[in-house]
Amino acid sequence: MWNIGKIIETFNTKEKCISFAESEGLIPTRKLCRTHKQPMVVSNAGDTAVGTFRCRKGACRNRSAISRAKGTWFDNAKIPLPQIFYLMYAYASHWSHEEVRKNSFTREPVLSSATICDWFNYCREAVVIHQIDQQVAVGKIGGPGKVVQIDESKFGKRKYNKGRRVEGHWVLGMVEDGSDDLRLEVCPENVRSAEVLIPLIRKHLAQGTTIHTDCWKAYDCLSGHGYEHRRVNHSDPDNPFVAKDGTHTQRIESQWRVIKKFFVRDNYNNPENFTDFIMEYTWRKNIANNHDDPFLKLLEIIKYTYKF
Ligand SMILES: [Zn+2]
Repeated sequence: MWNIGKIIETFNTKEKCISFAESEGLIPTRKLCRTHKQPMVVSNAGDTAVGTFRCRKGACRNRSAISRAKGTWFDNAKIPLPQIFYLMYAYASHWSHEEVRKNSFTREPVLSSATICDWFNYCREAVVIHQIDQQVAVGKIGGPGKVVQIDESKFGKRKYNKGRRVEGHWVLGMVEDGSDDLRLEVCPENVRSAEVLIPLIRKHLAQGTTIHTDCWKAYDCLSGHGYEHRRVNHSDPDNPFVAKDGTHTQRIESQWRVIKKFFVRDNYNNPENFTDFIMEYTWRKNIANNHDDPFLKLLEIIKYTYKF
């Protein structure tokens, strides 16, 4: 597992960062001059993030240096490489801004909130792209003989003193019994009607799935869409948690508590990237389930997303 000690040791100079990026395939190591069809010279000098390519022939029109960062993860990077790798590690470790500043091994320039936000968003974008591809590759969950628990929960419902009210976001959650493949969807237009929920359910659940829900009326039509539908009635004083036939939604309900705790310090009221945070959560949950190294997983994703 990568830890901060290993990060400092591996990334404390620009040269070390570049050789790591080369060996990991994050930046190209060679490029041919288009005119002379021969390898150009790599230079890591100057203030460019990962150096430049330059043609050997003095009179070549490609004599002006070409950035080696073009089309890579480091394109348009405005901070030194050690800080970039540090921020990637911090994102993978799910650190708060405070932790990022406290643990930073690079003194200059000081990491501003804007810079931390930028790089965290940049990492999150790659994670979201990866998560969507991953879910498409895995395909639908459930199927005949399989049980999937479904529930919806509201995130970020807060009342402010100034009279401004944030409506929050309805999130639909789906999890199959015996599997940790949690599917989450933010409800468009922030409504949880059948018109919104059914297409989201059909997107993730195979036909023939046995679906367990509470008695929310939007689920009433599920059996008309090729699903086996069972309910638990939370207002039944005798069996509020588990119906007589064993139907319950406790696994998905217990997820909400975990997810809300996870988001407590993130500004999940921000409507612009709330969906991204939800995708990020499922990514982090998979990593925890599989005991993977989050930094290595992030590197894998970046390599896959930023092919050059
Ligand atoms: Zn040339």
